[in-house]
Amino acid sequence: MTIANAPSTTCPLPIRVFARRTKWTPDDSLAFFDGPPLWPVGNGWGPVLVSVAFTWDIERGLYLVRQWKLAGYSTTIGGPALNDPGGEFTAGMFVKDGVTITSRGCPKHCSFCMVPKREGKIRELAITPGHVVQDNNLLACSRRHIKAVFEMLRKQKKAIKFLGGLDIGYMKPWHIELFKSVKIGKSGLCIACDSKRAIRNLDKAADLLSDFDIEQKRCYVLVGYKGETQDQAQQRCITVLRKGFLPYAQLYRGPTSGPSRREWRDFCYFWCHPKFYRPAFEK
Ligand code: SF4
Repeated sequence: MTIANAPSTTCPLPIRVFARRTKWTPDDSLAFFDGPPLWPVGNGWGPVLVSVAFTWDIERGLYLVRQWKLAGYSTTIGGPALNDPGGEFTAGMFVKDGVTITSRGCPKHCSFCMVPKREGKIRELAITPGHVVQDNNLLACSRRHIKAVFEMLRKQKKAIKFLGGLDIGYMKPWHIELFKSVKIGKSGLCIACDSKRAIRNLDKAADLLSDFDIEQKRCYVLVGYKGETQDQAQQRCITVLRKGFLPYAQLYRGPTSGPSRREWRDFCYFWCHPKFYRPAFEK
């Protein structure tokens, strides 16, 4: 057992246990990544919330539930992997401080995506301050909501990132004026090009976002879906790059697949790092 944190009595959040540590998991004193420490934490009995983001971590999540229960804590399990639709967003609870989610769900039904099945149609939430916006589809929200989100963003000290993705289909000139009203960070404007068909949308995005530097424009590229080969995926990455966006390869993993597919590991590593692919493929 590894002990992630020292005990604290000041953190107002409940004890949360994460099946996997990522860049975005919270790092406060009541966030854990393994079984309970030898001393009592929080009030000594819970509640403990075990959070599982990826389906391939469900087994580990269940193991963690058993460990915390054995130590006498009242423990429940949830998270995206268990089809948790998500409620109102609480800053710092399941993602690091600085990240915000102002809406859940999505009106679209992309075949590879679990969001609409899990979270349903778009739901606008109360706006919690943060500089990293992780909404699934912020631009599908009402104009009133989007404007209120930018009002909040203009008050942030750190550069703004829309890491949840900006749907090109919804993108309009008035959104661009809002993007220009905040300081956009490196790779802060994230769009997606998930299929060969989506390439045609890139021209629209390139036009609308032409005033922003390539360093600010990232494009998620889903690869390996429905038998796509690495040659085909690479062609799409090159197209994305030459249209003025930094590709960021994301390997498709279905609900029953594992955390990674070995044969794609090098491909994704290469196509997530501009320092490798820009010298080789940018014209
Ligand atoms: S637009 Fe994005 S969030 Fe919505 S279904 Fe498609 S991939 Fe999922």
